[in-house]
Formats: sequence, C-alpha cells, structure tokens
Amino acid sequence: MTYNLVESQQKVRDLAKEFGEKEILPIARELDRGAPEFPMELFKKMAAKGFVAFPVSEQYGGLGRSKLDYVALIEEIAWFDASAAIIMAVSNLASYPIEKFGSEEQKRKYLPKMCSGEFVGAFALTEPNAGSDAGNQQTTAKEDDDYYIINGEKIFIQHGNIADLIVLICKIVKEGEKDKVSALLLEAPVEGLTRETLKQKMGLRAATTGRLKLENIKVPKSQLLGEPGKGFRIALATLDSARIGVAAQSVGIAQKAFDESVKYAKTREQFGAPIAKLQAIQWMIADMSTKLEAARLLTYKAASLEDKGERFTKDAAQAKLFASEASNFCVNKAMQIHGGYGYIGEFSDIEKLYRDQRITEIYEGTSEIQRLVISASYLR
Ligand SMILES: Cc1cc2nc3c(=O)[nH]c(=O)nc-3n(C[C@H](O)[C@H](O)[C@H](O)COP(=O)(O)OP(=O)(O)OC[C@H]3O[C@@H](n4cnc5c(N)ncnc54)[C@H](O)[C@@H]3O)c2cc1C
Repeated sequence: MTYNLVESQQKVRDLAKEFGEKEILPIARELDRGAPEFPMELFKKMAAKGFVAFPVSEQYGGLGRSKLDYVALIEEIAWFDASAAIIMAVSNLASYPIEKFGSEEQKRKYLPKMCSGEFVGAFALTEPNAGSDAGNQQTTAKEDDDYYIINGEKIFIQHGNIADLIVLICKIVKEGEKDKVSALLLEAPVEGLTRETLKQKMGLRAATTGRLKLENIKVPKSQLLGEPGKGFRIALATLDSARIGVAAQSVGIAQKAFDESVKYAKTREQFGAPIAKLQAIQWMIADMSTKLEAARLLTYKAASLEDKGERFTKDAAQAKLFASEASNFCVNKAMQIHGGYGYIGEFSDIEKLYRDQRITEIYEGTSEIQRLVISASYLR
C-alpha cells in the first residue's frame, strides 16, 4: 500500500487507478510511438472526470481539492503514463496564475472553460535566449491605444501548439520608461501567431511541445494579468506551485520503475534461481525504495505547506530536485535489473520510462536552478 499523508489521498489513488487501467494503459504505448499529436480524446476524458479541474476553486468550476490530493492524482496518472500526467496538469500552469492574480472577470471568463476541458491552457515563459535566465524576456508588448502589440518568440511551450489560452510572459516597452516584465492572456488561434509542434522529442511523446512566433499580435489591454511589471513574480509563483507537480510526476515514474523491477527480479531466473536471490539485485531494490519514499515525503511536505498557505518556494525546489533525481536513479536501476529486456521496448516499459523520466530534471527549472533556489533561501 502506498503511504498517504491524509486519508483522502487513497480515494484519489483508487479513482486514478480505475481511470488509468481503462483509459490510459491500452493506448499509452501507441501514443508514445506515433507522430506527435495532442491526444485530445484522452484530455477530454480526463476533464470529464474532473482531473483537469482538481485544484481550481469550486466557484470557478473546479473541484477545490487540496494540493496533497492533487499530488496523489498526478503520481498515480504518471505511474500509468508520464505524458498523461502532463496532459492533465499543464492547463493548471495557466489556470493557477489566473486564479491567483487575475481579475474577477478574467477568472469567470476563463477558469470554467479550462476546468471543463473546453479550453487547453499553456504557460509561455521560455524563449530561445531566456531559458534558465527567464528574466531576460525579449518578447515585447508595445502600447497602442487600448491594445498591446506583441512581437517575439517562445520555445518549448507545452501544448503551446494547440492551446486555446496562453499565459504569455513578455515585457511592456515604452520609450523613456524601464521595461516591465508582465503577463498577458492570449487567446489562440489569433492573427499573427504561428505555431509549430517540436519533433523528435526524447520522451513524453504523447504530450506535444511547441514553438510560437508572435508577429504584431493585437491584444486588448484588458488581457493584462495582474499589474504591469509583475509578470516575473507571477511566473515564479506559478513555477513554485508547478514544481510540486513535477515532483509528484517523478514519484509516479519512480514507483512504476520500482514495481516493474520487483516483479521482474522475482520471475527472471539466472544461474538456476530468480535474480531476486542475488545480493547485487537486492541492494538495488533497497536503494530504489528508500529514495522513492524520501521523494514522496518531500513532495507531501511541499504540498502540505502550500495547502496551509505557508511559504513553500524552497520546499517545492527541494521536492522537485530530489524527486526528479531519485526517479533518474530508479529508472536507471530498473534498466540494469531488466538487462536487455529493459533496453528494448517490445519487451517492457523500461526504455519508455527511461526516456520519459529525463525531462523532470530539466523543465520547470533545471536541477542546477533548483539548487540555486534552495541555497538562496539560506544564504540570502
Ligand atoms: C519538453 C519540454 C517542455 C517544456 N515546457 C515548458 C512550458 O510549458 N513553458 C515554458 O515556459 N517552458 C517550458 N520548457 C522550457 C524549460 O523550462 C527550459 O528548457 C529550462 O528552464 C532550461 O532552459 P534551457 O533549455 O534554455 O537551458 P539553459 O538555461 O540554456 O541551460 C543549459 C544548462 O546550463 C545550466 N545553467 C544555466 N544557468 C545556470 C546557472 N545560473 N547556474 C548553474 N547552471 C546553469 C542549466 O542548468 C543547464 O544545465 C519546456 C522544456 C521542455 C524540453
């Protein structure tokens, strides 16, 4: 039985397991191996179950569930397929900042549509020259009467290729004034927006990632999220919360790698006995389970701090750093335990897990950036 911090987490797990077995397991491999295309049918089914709406307040069409419940959901869905977890969770990268920083009108206009799955959301911060250095935004918004005119380029935007609503981080530029990094709500498609699906992605192949080119896009000033100049703060707050989700995704991947390894070690025989009898294998299992449980606990800690309304920036970074590196350890050991049958996809899920895991150490801030965030909280 998976360790839960609160009782409601088990009910969430049961719900996710039932859904995963019926709707994800039969198609996960096929989606991984097909051409990159957003699996709209799966997304709609997850939305119909309320999974996309999980953390959003009930008054805006959400389920108003706690972060602790939400991480249990992400963990379980990621166990079935890491792509499915991101397909479900990415809309929250857009709904979270809207709920936290948006006007009442913006919340009422967009959140119910995102919760029901009518709209897919995306969060566009990264640019070709603003990756880890996300403050170095080059996308500009120039004031023109009641509009902003947007120009620039965004890269690596999860679901950006098909999203209906994009939280766009850019800088408002005005002659004689300091640039103000700000957040805008961009509905898509819109004239001036060119979108491209990125190809040959290593893992998370069912969840598409896009490049956006923005040329003279006219956005009404009423689409500004929060105040001018507050965009970087909005982005950082969004990432703090989302990092706990990546930690949960990592835990789900690590758990799957662990479960597959235990099962395989007990059944694969070499030298006349199951390889589980070999101390070399036993030690790998011991180390995997210990890192996995520690990762889960750090994830729960960060989630419960968020639920309590306490500061959680450092804790989210620690959870994301540790859980993503623990999942790397676990998929690597799972590959070793499975030998050749792990390396070749037609025999097991291990090569897919290996590919899917790697991004957890890169997106929502690399491991190096998490270390900067953690140390800064002590050394500032
Ligand atoms: C599949 C995928 C999905 C993504 N989804 C989104 C999304 O939805 N929205 C979005 O906005 N972005 C998204 N990203 C972008 C992602 O967040 C960035 O790729 C990530 O932040 C790293 O930026 P970069 O790739 O430009 O690497 P760089 O910043 O160029 O980093 C290269 C290397 O240098 C290191 N480095 C850089 N600066 C420092 C420093 N100060 N100290 C120590 N080391 C440093 C990094 O850790 C890394 O090892 C996604 C990326 C991928 C691949």
